[in-house]
Amino acid sequence: MPSLYSRALENLLLPAHNVARGRDFVRHRKFLETSQWWPPEKLREFRWKETRALVEHAFRTVPYYQKKYAGIRLEDIRTPEDYARLPVLRREDVNAHRAELRSTAYRGKLISHATGGSSGVPTRFYITIESYDWRTACTERVYAYTGCRLGERTLFLWGAPVGKLPEWKKWKVKAFETFRRQLVINTFSQSEEKWREILTRAVRYKPKLVVGYISSLEGFARFLADSKHKLPGVRAVIAAAEPLFPPTRALVEKAFGAPLFNTYGSREFMSIAGECENHSGMHVNSENILLETALPAPAGASDILVTDLHNYGMPFLRYAIGDVGVLDDSPCACGRGLPRIVSIEGRVLDVLRSASGRVVPGELIPHVMKDIPEVLEYRVTQTSLERLEMEAVLSTELSEKSRKILDSEIHKAFGSGTHLEIRRVSEIPRLASGKRRVTIGLPA
Ligand SMILES: [Zn+2]
Repeated sequence: MPSLYSRALENLLLPAHNVARGRDFVRHRKFLETSQWWPPEKLREFRWKETRALVEHAFRTVPYYQKKYAGIRLEDIRTPEDYARLPVLRREDVNAHRAELRSTAYRGKLISHATGGSSGVPTRFYITIESYDWRTACTERVYAYTGCRLGERTLFLWGAPVGKLPEWKKWKVKAFETFRRQLVINTFSQSEEKWREILTRAVRYKPKLVVGYISSLEGFARFLADSKHKLPGVRAVIAAAEPLFPPTRALVEKAFGAPLFNTYGSREFMSIAGECENHSGMHVNSENILLETALPAPAGASDILVTDLHNYGMPFLRYAIGDVGVLDDSPCACGRGLPRIVSIEGRVLDVLRSASGRVVPGELIPHVMKDIPEVLEYRVTQTSLERLEMEAVLSTELSEKSRKILDSEIHKAFGSGTHLEIRRVSEIPRLASGKRRVTIGLPA
């Protein structure tokens, strides 16, 4: 039975806000609630219609694609198979051609975003409000797979904004979190003492849902198990952003006394896929995202390619996101027609450590790097408890401001005993597998 607040939020507050501000979150959320149960053919048809419209938009109004696809006629792209022959878009392309990737016809507001690059190449891009409303509607649908509703108390074991926020922005964030009933706790610096403090706040808050980076969930679960504490009333746990292995799932589920739902997303597209109650792969948000793999499924894991169907300001077509996976189009026992990602590899981020015994999730690094505009590519290696070494390919020398942000974020997470040394390089060699490793911890 959803709480009174959830019902008020879903049926009254958010619809009123959306009407007043001309926003589409509520409309998309309703649509997605229905469309997830469509048969696969109907979903495929919808997806192709949206893809085709986006391709046409790209051909007509995006200088980058007009150049890249020279020699290909729009009329030649008649089927998904034709589309699958178009060349792939890479992070490096986005960075080199950001301006030309913008549509000349889009008149709405573009919101600037960045990713620190879980594969080591930070990327800057734009999204539109229309796309943002699709994305948040997708996120909420994935969260709803847990059975929890919008506005139910949710604890986030997450990161904090980089740098110093102005006072008004702090208020805005706080108001949003209260409105949505979210308690967001920074877990980029982990120690027994921190976990104890988080437990006290969490017990007082009484969350129904817990969302976190896998390394944060794992750290907190281990603390709960070791100290024989419980966090009563949790109905589900949502994991994000890192590969999840069976022992971690078991540990987290036992410590929280609730099932774990894995999700897959990225800063470029937000929510991409999430597990349903059957926990057999992750359902792709395929009304908003066309997800392909470079090779068909029987060939095994291959590059995941994303087409972002509703960002008309800066269209991403067949973007290699840097992960490798396997797609499964067979029906899921839950009855949803959405395809699934059944295996995902990539995002190998080692845990880092501080001299004072704190544990720092590798996610800290891309989280901070998204705000350092000079860095084109990087890798951070921990050489001792007191020293981190960053190899970085830079567009220009680091500014005073960037260097300050880096130092202060490192000190926040590690304490003042750990120093970050930056070494400018012209290239960062890949692993034999072709993948990049973003953080390399001390040998266990
Ligand atoms: Zn399912």
